[in-house]
Amino acid sequence: MLRGLAPGAWAQPPFTRIPVASSHELKIGGATIQVDFAPGTLDLGDDAELRHVRTAAEAVTVYYGHFPVARARVLIDPVADRAGVLQGTSWGDMGGWPAFTRMRIGEHTTQADLNDDWMMTHELVHTAFPSLPDDEHWMEEGLSTYIEPLARVMIGDLTAQRVWHDMMRDMHQGEPRASDEGLNQTHTWGRTYWGGAMFCLVADVNIRRETHNRKGLRDALRAIVNAGGTIDHNWDLERALEIGERATGTHVLTRQYAEWKDKAVTVDLDKLWSELGVRAGPEGIEFVNSAPLARIREAIAGGQGIGSRE
Ligand SMILES: [Zn+2]
Repeated sequence: MLRGLAPGAWAQPPFTRIPVASSHELKIGGATIQVDFAPGTLDLGDDAELRHVRTAAEAVTVYYGHFPVARARVLIDPVADRAGVLQGTSWGDMGGWPAFTRMRIGEHTTQADLNDDWMMTHELVHTAFPSLPDDEHWMEEGLSTYIEPLARVMIGDLTAQRVWHDMMRDMHQGEPRASDEGLNQTHTWGRTYWGGAMFCLVADVNIRRETHNRKGLRDALRAIVNAGGTIDHNWDLERALEIGERATGTHVLTRQYAEWKDKAVTVDLDKLWSELGVRAGPEGIEFVNSAPLARIREAIAGGQGIGSRE
């Protein structure tokens, strides 16, 4: 979160030199993840935090096929007298690590807080895309916002109902407001996180439409990682998208980028949810199997959330 957006004192390298009270090593998805704890107290203890890092790293591994960088360091920084996962920030190529993530976690954080936390996975998804120029920062945040719940649903850490419920609730925040310009010009919170996520959702759906659901955004993203497009490399977005779309055999990504970067593009989200077969029912989200893009909806969530209703 907030990567590169507001480089205040907290965003500077010195925390790579924060003293370490304990250090652990996790092996996940072909990567070594070193989890360090800064001095301080956490009610839950190290093991619960380590399980939380492991779950997030496993979700990212399942989405990408392997963990995106060979070595990553996660610094858990306890915050006294607070509860909850407070802040996450990630950097590429820092202190000798391809990826470095700092998580500020409240002393009184509960297991329920960790179960509900999206930030850890969001941060580790950042390792799986190159670092972009400031104007294209929305793609880094949009991708993490869009991929985090999909990666988690694929390992059973979230239900498909919850994923689509949250998308229906939140995605509209990415729509351009009256004076907004394209994603490369308007850098508000809504356009950066949810405008970027909406770009990803629309691209995912359109790649799947054009390939009869044989390819999706995930194929493009895996190809970008496999070509070396990870957080420790500085690329421009066009370079990443060209690699991504070769993997899909479509021109969805570069075409959509050309359209969205300089122009405020609105999306008829109500129509999209209806075509995907997602609707709010009396007992929460219902999936409609007969909807025209129902198979695409299932594929986006890795086959989770098969509709029960025709
Ligand atoms: Zn972020």
